[in-house]
Amino acid sequence: MAGDEVIRIMCPNLGCQRVLAVPSSARGKLVRCRGCGTNIRIPANRPVPVDLPPAAGAAPAKPAPSAQSKPAA
Ligand SMILES: [Zn+2]
Repeated sequence: MAGDEVIRIMCPNLGCQRVLAVPSSARGKLVRCRGCGTNIRIPANRPVPVDLPPAAGAAPAKPAPSAQSKPAA
């Protein structure tokens, strides 16, 4: 691979929200926001666009077992 991909990530600091462009080699590492100095962790996986519908096979098909804790009658 070329390895020249640039990852754009927004600073989680609500008072900053600066968009940082970091090289793909920074995945899984911490980068410091140049705007506020907050350490931001770059996700190892490629960011998934949440606006698109989940592709078949990409998302887990099993529902989260969070609402199945009913007491037995
Ligand atoms: Zn920032």
